[in-house]
Amino acid sequence: MGSRPYRRRLAWGAAALLVAGIAVPAVAVASESGGASDVPALSAGHGAKKAKNVILLIGDGMGDSEITLARDYTVGAAGRLNMDKFPLTGAYTTYSVDKDGKPDYVTDSAASGTGWATGQKTVNGRISKSPGTDKPMTTILELAQRNGLATGSVTTAELTDATPAVLASHATDRSCAGPADMKACPNDTIAKGGPGSIAEQSVGHKVDVLLGGGKARFDQKITEGRYKGLTVTEQARKLGYDVVTDDKGLKSARAGKPVLGLFAPGNVPVEWTGKAAAQGGTDAQRCVTANPERKAGTPSLDDQTRKALQLLEAKQKGSKKGFFLQVEGASIDKRDHAADPCGQIGETAALDRAVKVARAYAAAHPDTLVVTTADHGHTSQIVPLEATPPGLSSTLVTDEGQKLKVNYSTNTPGQPQEHTGTQVRIAAQGPQAERVLGVTDQTQLFTTIRSALALR
Ligand SMILES: [Zn+2]
Repeated sequence: MGSRPYRRRLAWGAAALLVAGIAVPAVAVASESGGASDVPALSAGHGAKKAKNVILLIGDGMGDSEITLARDYTVGAAGRLNMDKFPLTGAYTTYSVDKDGKPDYVTDSAASGTGWATGQKTVNGRISKSPGTDKPMTTILELAQRNGLATGSVTTAELTDATPAVLASHATDRSCAGPADMKACPNDTIAKGGPGSIAEQSVGHKVDVLLGGGKARFDQKITEGRYKGLTVTEQARKLGYDVVTDDKGLKSARAGKPVLGLFAPGNVPVEWTGKAAAQGGTDAQRCVTANPERKAGTPSLDDQTRKALQLLEAKQKGSKKGFFLQVEGASIDKRDHAADPCGQIGETAALDRAVKVARAYAAAHPDTLVVTTADHGHTSQIVPLEATPPGLSSTLVTDEGQKLKVNYSTNTPGQPQEHTGTQVRIAAQGPQAERVLGVTDQTQLFTTIRSALALR
């Protein structure tokens, strides 16, 4: 069982070049896994098509159970979400590895994101650095930039959270978010010749569009190096960023300058609230679809996605090169950890509206590959109404007027609920979308995007 990932890692190592201290994968990545040979029948005629743009939408912790729960509650059991409407759907495995390359069956978001961002697995907690040697691994966003594409990242979490972080930073540990958070990353500090915190690296990469939460991180003071004494937000302005903090600011942003949108001090407050699941269950509840903690002027994920697409397209106007955009619905995971079914469903529905925006863009721009997937499964399960399961439960009354019981039992009540090691859905449309068919691995998504965009 343990030998395969180990062998794969060795093969990769042998094929890597070292450019500017960063391991750059050699060209023949596709042969490693997920190459056209895995899906011969469908590749014929489709495999050669090139995508100008890629939109990757990630539901953090959005396993089949989370998708089904959102579907049942919002559009009904027989209804279909936007994310259900992709023409091609497969599944992928999400496991991470330990430092010797052996499988760790339950991944976190850092390791899983590193998987599709770099094409290689790593240890839980690590951001686009190798499992044993802790060396930076080139990311799909870095490759896209080198190939002249515009790039963007949108999230409902802090912009320094694991899923956005894997694209434009390299850190020993995901906790090294701002300049004051470097305890777990002694070798990444600027004093040690490293690249600094995730926040500093993200703006340092000049990603064209960065939208999400985490303003407090970016307001931390830089204590070393060239930008010493400035906050990361001030560093961003020095680098040419237009910094916006609300809906109005976002609307007024124009292409020509990179945009940093920071819409909350921490994670962006979720859309829906309700009673958390409890031992022995809750009274039947309807979710509150307007969270009072969400400030007026907080842009929705679909509004952010729409604006990001506009900015990226405007930046590339007149160019043959397109863009790579990642959009994350982060708090599906966070509310699942909290056994909060309404919070979780509201965030899944919010991501689904962003999927609708992405698919509408692709309908008008058929040279766009759109992929929707997750980084790992999560804890929520739909159980029979008459069941009395252990753990925490809640009964919901769905939009179609039926009762639905959801259970959270992956940890002792009082402790946060846990990720699960199940495979997750991956669905796609557009050039080379057939690469998601069958059962693949999250690292093959790197190859899919790289191949579709013909990135060298
Ligand atoms: Zn999580």
